[in-house]
Amino acid sequence: MTFPIQKTDTEWFEALQAQGAEPVAYQVTRHAATERPFTGKYEQHWADGSYHCVCCGAQLFHSDTKFDAGCGWPSFYKAVPGAITEIVDRSHHMVRTETVCSQCGAHLGHVFEDGPQPTGLRYCMNSASLNFHDPASQGSACTPHEDSLDSAHTDSGDSGDGSN
Ligand SMILES: [Zn+2]
Repeated sequence: MTFPIQKTDTEWFEALQAQGAEPVAYQVTRHAATERPFTGKYEQHWADGSYHCVCCGAQLFHSDTKFDAGCGWPSFYKAVPGAITEIVDRSHHMVRTETVCSQCGAHLGHVFEDGPQPTGLRYCMNSASLNFHDPASQGSACTPHEDSLDSAHTDSGDSGDGSN
């Protein structure tokens, strides 16, 4: 399977290191490792915001769909449409559905059919595969100096043609 974003293992390793990702992030996302349960930074993390692929930044989940599955990993019942690709995983003598980032193929975790309604799905993710974005700290929503653009307006095209 090929993904829009392609990097070699070395490039991913260096990219993750450069952005300060957890050491385990490379093993999880590129070699389908699983972080130990109840150790991930997002397992008990309930702030409002969005969860993004640690490798490429694609948005994968919104905090609205996160729930406490009690399994030791951050769990979601719904993914952003199209953000995640499912692959049948026959490792460890089980048939499971692996989930990877649709953009870069990063291993995220698995999806199970024992989640809550309305989807009945449980996306069981590794915290190390995710980056949480706090909408309040993104800054783009607050630009107090926009009115300086308005002052450049010139009043051309006055439409005062009183007909007849
Ligand atoms: Zn990705």
